[in-house]
Amino acid sequence: MKNTSQTTTFKPLEGGTFKFACHPGVSCFTQCCAKLRLLLTPYDILRIKRRLGLDSERFLDQYAESVFEPGIVFPMVLLKMNSQDGYCPFLTSKGCSIYEDRPGACRLYPIGRASAFPTGGDRAREKFFIVTEDHCQGFREDRLWTIDEWLNHEGMYLYNKMNDPWTRIVTSNKPLGPENTLPQKLKMFFMASYNLDRFRQFLFHSPFFEKFYVEGDIRLKLARDDEALMNFAFDWLRFALFGEKTLTPRIDKSVPFGA
Ligand code: SF4
Ligand code: SF4
Repeated sequence: MKNTSQTTTFKPLEGGTFKFACHPGVSCFTQCCAKLRLLLTPYDILRIKRRLGLDSERFLDQYAESVFEPGIVFPMVLLKMNSQDGYCPFLTSKGCSIYEDRPGACRLYPIGRASAFPTGGDRAREKFFIVTEDHCQGFREDRLWTIDEWLNHEGMYLYNKMNDPWTRIVTSNKPLGPENTLPQKLKMFFMASYNLDRFRQFLFHSPFFEKFYVEGDIRLKLARDDEALMNFAFDWLRFALFGEKTLTPRIDKSVPFGA
């Protein structure tokens, strides 16, 4: 998350602790919720669209724009700020209207997290740093945090658990296969990452289950449970993009890419 009109500084976290507090009493309250370049992860979108009672297609149309970031081959999604005043569409005079479902980037600030995924390892290697913006008065407060306390307080362990399998895909340097299959693969990446409702239709209204072996109880879960569907979408992406053995084809090995 970056405020595009402020100076942002990244500093190493010294001594493993930092002082910070954000509450309605700070003079800068909600000033950070404007002019943001706020990248949304699949789990961010799942939480917010459910909160708003929208399907993913409607959410993307109304609140998101697709961009390509330097060094990343896959399309990313940004939260659209209000075109008139530049504020986040979820900001109200009382603060964040989706607070319990706010994006991971809003939770994590003022901490930055860099993650790497060693080959063969399941867990991310993490590095944390402090992100300061000149308008943020939260650093003048006396509350002392360890990283662990902050991640717990902000519900970030769940967000990292849900998003890390996707981050591993996005940051992978595995080859994507022949050039001419790339547009179709990127389209499929977009659907499986951000448009979960469309991905569900793709699974249940194409010959997908004739081509891949998926047990009946898992299919039932995929029909009803968005989190299970999202995890399945990541397995599907690893299979279809990189040829990993995350799914079991039945006989015909041709891969349906979906719409
Ligand atoms: S203290 Fe920082 S994070 Fe909190 S409202 Fe102010 S600018 Fe935003
Ligand atoms: S989602 Fe909430 S916390 Fe995040 S920028 Fe918008 S109003 Fe602020």
